[in-house]
Order: sequence, then C-alpha cells, then structure tokens
Amino acid sequence: MSARILDGTRIAKEIREKLAPRVQTFAARHGRPPGLGIVLVGDDPGSEIYVRNKLRAAAEVGIRADLERLPATATLDETLRLIDRLNGSSAHDGVLVQSPLPAAMGEDAEQTVFDAIDPAKDVDGFHPVNVGRLVQKRDALVPGTPRGVIELIDHAGIVVAGARAVVIGRSDIVGKPVAMLLLHRNATVTICHSKTRDLAAVAAQADILVAAIGRAAFVTRGFVKPGATVIDVGITCVTDPAAARAIFPPGHPRLADFDKRGSVVVGDVHPEVAEVAGALTPVPGGVGPLTIAMLLTNTVKAAEARSA
Ligand code: NAD
Repeated sequence: MSARILDGTRIAKEIREKLAPRVQTFAARHGRPPGLGIVLVGDDPGSEIYVRNKLRAAAEVGIRADLERLPATATLDETLRLIDRLNGSSAHDGVLVQSPLPAAMGEDAEQTVFDAIDPAKDVDGFHPVNVGRLVQKRDALVPGTPRGVIELIDHAGIVVAGARAVVIGRSDIVGKPVAMLLLHRNATVTICHSKTRDLAAVAAQADILVAAIGRAAFVTRGFVKPGATVIDVGITCVTDPAAARAIFPPGHPRLADFDKRGSVVVGDVHPEVAEVAGALTPVPGGVGPLTIAMLLTNTVKAAEARSA
C-alpha cells in the first residue's frame, strides 16, 4: 500500500484563487486593498526566504504587503516603535514580525514584540488575546500553520470527529494550536513532547498523526498505524551527506537533489512512512504553502473586520 499524497501546493493555490475576488471586492468598496506590514529585523537567511515568499503570495492575490526592515543592531524599543506605527496605520490591516529576532535583543523580546501587536491586526495569531479566543472556541485570528493543517485534513475528506489524534510537539505556534483546533473538531487529542514515554507506541494509536518537532525523518514506520493520516509540519535543511543517505535509499530522486545542491529539505516524517500511512503530506509542498495561504486569508479577514 502507498499513502495518498496530500498536495498542499494545489490546495493553497485554490485558496488564493478564492481569496482574490474577496480582495477585489474589499478594494472596490474601500478604495484601497487589504494591507499587510511585515517587520524583518536583521538578516537571517531563512527569514529572507520566508518573507520573500509572503510578499510574492500577497502580491499575487492583490494584497498590499510592505516590508519594513530594521538592521540586526536595532533595539527592542526601535522595533516596538515600528509596530506602534503599523498598529496606527490605516493602510495596514495586518502586522507580523518575522521570527526569529536577533538573539542580542534578549530572550523575551519575541513575546514582548508579539504582545505589542494590535490583536485586531495580529494575522499570525500569536497575541495572547487571539490565543485565548482560540482556546475558548471564539472567533479569532488563528496561526497559519495550524489552520493549514486543518485545511489539508478537510480537503482530504478525513473525518476528524471521534478520531484519535496525536500531535507530536507542543510549541505555541504549531503544536498547541493544532491540538486545540483538532479538539474543537471533536477529535480525542493527545499532545506528545520530548518527555513523552513510549512515544512511538502513543503515536501508533493515532488515526490522525501531526508531527511538528523539527527533527528530520524522526517519525518512522513504527510510529504509524496502518492507514493513518500523517501531517508532516517539520522543515529541516539537511546538509550532512551521511544524514541524507541515512534517510533516502540509493537512487532516490531526493538524493540526486542533495548531490546537486548540497542540501535537501526534509520533514519530521521518514519517507518509509508512505508505505504504511493512508494519507501523507509531502515536504516540501505540504503544510508550508498552506501556512502562507492562511496568512493571506487572515489579512483579508482582519481587513474586513476592521472596516465592518
Ligand atoms: P519548536 O522547536 O518550538 O517546538 C518543537 C517541539 O517538538 C517541542 O514542543 C518539543 O517538546 C518537541 N520535540 C522536540 N524533540 C522531540 C522529540 N525527540 N520527541 C518528541 N517531541 C520532541 O518548533 P516549532 O516552531 O513548533 O516547529 C516545529 C517544526 O515545524 C520545525 O521544523 C519548523 O521549522 C516547522 N514549521 C513549519 C512550518 C510550515 O509552514 N510548514 C511553520 C512553522 C514551523
């Protein structure tokens, strides 16, 4: 048996196509498109790529997206002042700060900065007001990656109500909110983490298994109940040839990619899981594209709510 591959790129494109007319209607009614302010502090290469993808996707659907850059030497105060300006801007309905912030800004800087974003413009859904509203199952701006996971499951026609769902990873941006969304859909949810005992055995009870840990190919065949739906959130860039060869068998096309580029992007789920799972998201091309599609959806939602 080989798992059905859930194509996130295609679903994200469908979502963007549905969003474009909503953007046009908003623009016609208000004389301006929905606007997104993206704050990028420093020059982290990964962040540069994520931000570029967000800007491109926003432009594609007609959302105005402005990149606001600060140097790596910027202080927390300077960053907060920029957020304050975007909070007060009538052209911007969404504000997000690309993570990570420079380490020099301090350990709590990220939370301080997220807390400073106007909850009505918090399109990443990291502000405590939106987190609380999500927990209480009230209307909220929900983080894009967890929302994307649910979109993938829904598009695949997977029944969530009554299913056993296991989420590996308990971060504020992926693990916890995805668990909450699955709970709201009436799944029986278990959250696992680095201290979970008998992790593989717990995971193997899942009808729906979500892996969000950031460890390349960690989830092997023994973690997966035959026929289960497996959603792979992890993104790790593998640069060690031995590690790449331990994951992909000789002759695998991804190994050819590795030999060409010197790196390969790998999820948390080992490729051998495709032989056991009923449905599986690829990396890349699974959850990643949905994350951005849901960010754009949140921007339009925030714009509509602010001008209602
Ligand atoms: P994180 O580092 O904040 O959290 C990782 C979680 O995994 C922690 O809760 C930890 O307890 C758990 N964990 C770590 N090692 C474990 C182990 N050996 N066994 C069990 N649990 C373990 O990471 P995050 O921000 O939640 O991101 C997780 C992964 O998802 C990363 O690879 C990240 O790059 C990726 N990600 C992808 C997208 C996307 O758009 N596809 C978006 C966000 C994050």
